[in-house]
Amino acid sequence: MRALILAAVASLALGAPAQAQRLAGVRPDVTSDEGGLWAVSDKAESVARQSAELDRDPALNAYVREVACKVARDHCADIRVYVMDRPFFNASMAPNGYTEVWSGTLLRATDEAELAFILGHEVSHFDRNHSLLSWRRKKSTSNAMMVLSAGVAVVGVAAASSAATYDGASSIMDATRSLIDVVYLTGMASLFSYDRENELEADRLGLARVAQAGYAPAAAADVWRAQMGETSASEFKRVRNSGARTNVFASHPVDSERLKALQDDLKTLPATGEEGRARHRAAIRPHLSAWLRDDLRRRDFGQTLNLIGRLASGGEDLGVLNFYRGEAYRQRRGEGDLASARDAYLAAAAYPDAPVAVWRELGDLRRKESDTAGARTAYETYLAKAPSAEDAWIVQDSLNSFNSGN
Ligand SMILES: [Zn+2]
Repeated sequence: MRALILAAVASLALGAPAQAQRLAGVRPDVTSDEGGLWAVSDKAESVARQSAELDRDPALNAYVREVACKVARDHCADIRVYVMDRPFFNASMAPNGYTEVWSGTLLRATDEAELAFILGHEVSHFDRNHSLLSWRRKKSTSNAMMVLSAGVAVVGVAAASSAATYDGASSIMDATRSLIDVVYLTGMASLFSYDRENELEADRLGLARVAQAGYAPAAAADVWRAQMGETSASEFKRVRNSGARTNVFASHPVDSERLKALQDDLKTLPATGEEGRARHRAAIRPHLSAWLRDDLRRRDFGQTLNLIGRLASGGEDLGVLNFYRGEAYRQRRGEGDLASARDAYLAAAAYPDAPVAVWRELGDLRRKESDTAGARTAYETYLAKAPSAEDAWIVQDSLNSFNSGN
């Protein structure tokens, strides 16, 4: 009780009239509307815990949890982080402390400081109880309360059906959209789509958390700038026109005005701090291949190429990154893409971390170019490096056909 009063006093002292006057992370009365939000969040969390997309890599989870705690500070004990293998930029923190960080976010943060800002932004929404404010705002404009009570049941159905529709959907984007459509009905999306004022506040408070934790504050602007760049690199006009979002639920785009507000705040903060680039890359390195493969399933090759360009800018992991750059060009099949794919595979092959599949793809491309000698060398290298590969017999068969002159 004392804590609640202190929180109320603190919020008055801070002059934050819009803030819900209770402590974030403290379980509310089950009969209140906030209790309803917690019930939906509890249900969604129990679904997440059993999801096939939950990433269980202990080292990765420990890393993300540690960064989250550095910016969450007093809320560290309130939050439970789930890393989900989903190729979209998304992080969210429900009012009950259930937190999702999607692999697409970890792949897009260039360093630990950028991840810290993304999490600091979410912690700030959580700390200020923005989801409750957002809910109450929407409640007045729709039959939201009924939707919320139905939501508890529907979240489970949505999660169960997403696994089934995933393979049948024409792209992972469709699969995810259909999931989000259903989740929308439950109010989860309402929970995580904040108005512009709340987004600006989460940016500002998130930035303060990043600086206080000793990270380089400039990371904050870098995150949103990169998101804006990737959005404009999309293959799809609809995506380019919709603007960059802070997560898949966001209704307010990151625009130049919002970036400017961050840059103004940056002037008041220390210019330097820890970036943690090597540490972040070490944490995600074991997943680079799998996550880039997932990213290609979105079939937004312009965005994937933009992402790979950022990942490659430090000169690391060039075998893996150039291989997936080649894959993006090969799968896109646009004008000149096959030649670009070949060049990317050749670049990959020069690095010790190149996936062995580079030589198989090079062989296939050389063959299409009627370069029999080049194809033979590539296929022979492939077989020498992966003699027990599942497709070794197919490659051997191609080699035999060269020998017999077919
Ligand atoms: Zn936000």
